[in-house]
Amino acid sequence: MREFDSIVIGVGGMGSSTVYHLAGRGQKVLGLEQFDIPHDFGSSHGITRIIRMAYPEGAGYIPLLRRSYELWRDLEARSGEQLLFVTGCVDAGAPESATVRGSLETCRQFGLKHQAFDARPLHRRFPGYRFPDNIVAVLQPDGGFLLPERCIVNHVEAAQASGAEVQTRERVTGWDASGGGIEVRTDREAYRARKLVITAGPWASELCPKLRNLAIPERQVVLWAQPLRPELFRVESFPVFNLEAPEGRFYGCPEYGVPGFKIGKYHHRHENVDPASLDREIHPEDEAVLREGIRRYFPDADGPALAMKTCMFTNSPDEHFILDAYPGADNVYIAAGFSGHGFKFASVVGEIMADLALDGGVKYAGQLGMFRLARFA
Ligand SMILES: Cc1cc2nc3c(=O)[nH]c(=O)nc-3n(C[C@H](O)[C@H](O)[C@H](O)COP(=O)(O)OP(=O)(O)OC[C@H]3O[C@@H](n4cnc5c(N)ncnc54)[C@H](O)[C@@H]3O)c2cc1C
Repeated sequence: MREFDSIVIGVGGMGSSTVYHLAGRGQKVLGLEQFDIPHDFGSSHGITRIIRMAYPEGAGYIPLLRRSYELWRDLEARSGEQLLFVTGCVDAGAPESATVRGSLETCRQFGLKHQAFDARPLHRRFPGYRFPDNIVAVLQPDGGFLLPERCIVNHVEAAQASGAEVQTRERVTGWDASGGGIEVRTDREAYRARKLVITAGPWASELCPKLRNLAIPERQVVLWAQPLRPELFRVESFPVFNLEAPEGRFYGCPEYGVPGFKIGKYHHRHENVDPASLDREIHPEDEAVLREGIRRYFPDADGPALAMKTCMFTNSPDEHFILDAYPGADNVYIAAGFSGHGFKFASVVGEIMADLALDGGVKYAGQLGMFRLARFA
């Protein structure tokens, strides 16, 4: 049986970064991935992911976001490839909405540059935005988007350059930490390790039964629409957005990488799923949900659908992440429940998981309380 210092199960957004940070700290690491690097079957595909500094989800995320930006820039510097594009981010909604209030609060608390807009001045500045008069916006200039597939590839390549092994098309079928070290069994062979980090995304609860009600996969759909006025939806003319509308919370990005303005809606059609039987087909009802958002708020993008894709969120009950030791198993750690807003943090989550596994979480000790499992006890 081959032996490693650390094994990471799942080499997607969080796992690729974890493998990178463990290898960078001199660990002999094995990353095990059931599909390819990268792939389209989990949570980290679809060309773009929003990154934003103002964070209505909670002030506790801001220090991690600062580190996250730094680590993305480090990764870019290593490879010479741009992974993060700054466009600014528009947080919008009714003046009293959690999105607008939370965005303003974190900007003020952390001294982040920002500018408040009513709907019409926002439209004059960024004509792709056509919000009704009862919607206001906060523009935070550090927001933008990451290229998730390229982030994963870059993390894996950098990890390999530090000696990590990454094996694909190898599914982990079980693990056992009861006999001193840890044994990991796959559909090909078995391995031993001193530390195990599980970053299995929507599959987390299959490998960690204690997460069954705490990391729940949900089907999502995103759409790329052909703009009627393409010049309004280019990277240089259209900031990413996070819009709390009466119909729900829409998010989206300018045209990048593939033709089309991209839009999605948090909790799309509220469909909790089993990843093994996820419906990857696109139905007229899926397009209708997103078309409504385009027609109401971005009518100059209301051309034909150019692409649609399914993806999965993995929701925790309070929609905050789970970053912790796995209860009842020594030297086993989990990063799960990213609840539709995790990718921007992948760079720092890898560092946190390496810190938890190797140093007991010293570096981030003061910041992880809101991510511990004990909050659900
Ligand atoms: C449509 C959509 C839009 C989103 N938009 C944003 C956004 O704009 N900004 C943002 O910050 N976040 C966003 N998110 C959320 C973010 O993408 C996720 O939080 C993040 O990608 C989760 O990464 P992960 O590593 O947990 O999961 P994944 O990237 O899915 O990785 C898990 C990996 O584990 C592997 N695996 C699982 N089980 C096994 C096994 N038994 N053996 C071997 N391998 C296994 C899987 O194959 C997979 O590769 C979005 C998510 C979706 C679905």
